[in-house]
Amino acid sequence: MDFDKYKNTFEYPRTISRNCSCGAIFNKNDNFCSKCGNNVKKAYEDSIKERKEKIKAYNDEAQRLNELFKNDVLKYVGLENHPKKDIIYGKAYMDGHSYGYPGVLDELEELVDFIHDLGL
Ligand SMILES: [Zn+2]
Repeated sequence: MDFDKYKNTFEYPRTISRNCSCGAIFNKNDNFCSKCGNNVKKAYEDSIKERKEKIKAYNDEAQRLNELFKNDVLKYVGLENHPKKDIIYGKAYMDGHSYGYPGVLDELEELVDFIHDLGL
C-alpha cells in the first residue's frame, strides 16, 4: 500500500499570529501597535478565529483520510464485505496505530490469518 496517500498535508497552526501589518510584533493584551498605532485588538481576534478554522479544517481532513484508509485497507486485505469488519478494524487500529497506518495494516493482516484459521 502507498501510505503517503493518507498523509495530512493541511497546515496545523501551532501559534497565534501577533504580527501587525507594519511588521511589528504586538503583545496579546495590546489594543494598539506600539510602533504604528494600528488597532491590533481586532487583528488578534481575527488570528484566533483563523487558527480555529485552520485546526477544524486539519481535523476534518484527518478524519477524511482515516475513513479513506479504513476503506482501502479493508479492501486490500479482502475484508470489505465481512460482517464484522468494523470490529476487526477497530482492534487492528487500537493495537497498531501508534506505529501509524503500516502498524494498523500489520495488525489487520494478523487478524485476517486468525479469522481465516477459524473459518470465519
Ligand atoms: Zn504596527
